[in-house]
Amino acid sequence: MVLSDSRFEEIWNSVLSKIEFEINDKAQFSAYFYNTKIAGIDGDTITVSVPSKFISEIIKAKYLELIQDILRETTQTNFKCIILDEEAIKNRALSGKDTDSKNINIKDHGFVTNLNPRYTFDNFVVGDKSNRESYTAALLVANNPGQFYNPLFIYGKSGLGKTHLLHAIGNKIRLNKSTFRVLYLTADDFFEEYVKAIKENEMEDLKDRFREIDVLLLDDIQFLATKEKTKETFFHIFNLLINSGKQIIITSDRHPSEIKSLEDRLVSRFAQGLSIEIKPLEYETALKILKKKIESQDINGGQISEEVLEYIASNYSGDVRQLEGALNKLLFYVITYNPTSVIDMNTVSETFKDAPKKHNENTLDANRIKSVVAEYYNISVSQLTSKLRTSNLVTARHIAMYICREMLDLPLMKIGEEFGGKDHTTVISAVEKVNKLSKENPDYAEAIKDLKKLLQNQ
Ligand code: ADP
Ligand code: MG
Repeated sequence: MVLSDSRFEEIWNSVLSKIEFEINDKAQFSAYFYNTKIAGIDGDTITVSVPSKFISEIIKAKYLELIQDILRETTQTNFKCIILDEEAIKNRALSGKDTDSKNINIKDHGFVTNLNPRYTFDNFVVGDKSNRESYTAALLVANNPGQFYNPLFIYGKSGLGKTHLLHAIGNKIRLNKSTFRVLYLTADDFFEEYVKAIKENEMEDLKDRFREIDVLLLDDIQFLATKEKTKETFFHIFNLLINSGKQIIITSDRHPSEIKSLEDRLVSRFAQGLSIEIKPLEYETALKILKKKIESQDINGGQISEEVLEYIASNYSGDVRQLEGALNKLLFYVITYNPTSVIDMNTVSETFKDAPKKHNENTLDANRIKSVVAEYYNISVSQLTSKLRTSNLVTARHIAMYICREMLDLPLMKIGEEFGGKDHTTVISAVEKVNKLSKENPDYAEAIKDLKKLLQNQ
């Protein structure tokens, strides 16, 4: 992509104003984002330059996800974002090396892959029972696209590495066969493409575009299940690709036969391939992931005591996203308040002193509802309470507001506050919408029932 500096500035200004809005704290915003800019765009990587290493650590620990979401929303492109201080950028320019995206060289031949080069097989930690099978199947398919399991269907709870494996497959295929056209899409992206094609009367173009693909990676297919017409088109494209020997890899939060509203014909088509479950991590794997993450972030690992790693691994194993979150929280605390200290159990108790204690998890409150709904929809709590309006975020947000009203009988104003300062009329319309949809759409009703059950059981 060739873009001028003024275009960079335009993009970054737009991103900054959204970040400022989301952070909603002028002092914090200017402390961290003053004098930041886009230093360059290379393929699908945007490098953002910040004034110092200290600021870069804080932004990486605290705001990277928000920046990526907003960049994606602003540019409608799945950019990977690298935060570097000015010094590091200078050094990189001198050595001519991109230190952050080793090995992977995605040449796109003008074709958008949506692949995130950060997720590879190399940095996927293989456990024992939890993810070994899915890793092996993914690797086999990546080395022999279209030849073995088709489709490969990977399912399991959120935060266990499904998206990571999809990108790893795509990146590996691109390395092995650089002319292969690989496309990564979430079910939501597919839905959006579909709606756009209908609106602009370009359904044939859409199908033609998919005909050109060699490998399709479709993430979170459960979100397509309720969208009748979109599903029809997907089925058509699916057959088209499979019949011409193209590889399809799909992920979902549950086994195909358990996705309500997925017709038998699709379930049986999926069954012709291989369905593999990715399971919660064992403690040892969680520990290995922590070590790998510390190593890859250039953090001085010697600073962190083994006891601390064991504590995090045992409290947060099972879900890698939470595991990474806990580590980031700890590192953020150290960088911000105590940069020179050794990280030991004292630091841990300082850092997590506000975290809900295990035994409090039974108490049902808005926080509990937010975290359970976010997990159910495979998003973060900050996305849930943000102002971003991606369709799956909006659905999850509305349902969470509805449940707060139903199960806690919270005042509308209070619910609004819990969800990033929304107006009470927004809450009313969300609650009414969910009420209506749950009567019309059995999947909605099912999701609410599942969530209530999860919340009651905790
Ligand atoms: P899912 O799609 O199943 O919800 P993700 O693939 O998004 O989960 O994983 C969540 C985070 O955990 C990502 O940052 C991912 O890189 C990391 N992760 C998950 N499993 C592993 C693993 N086995 N090794 C290293 N990182 C992992
Ligand atoms: Mg995912």
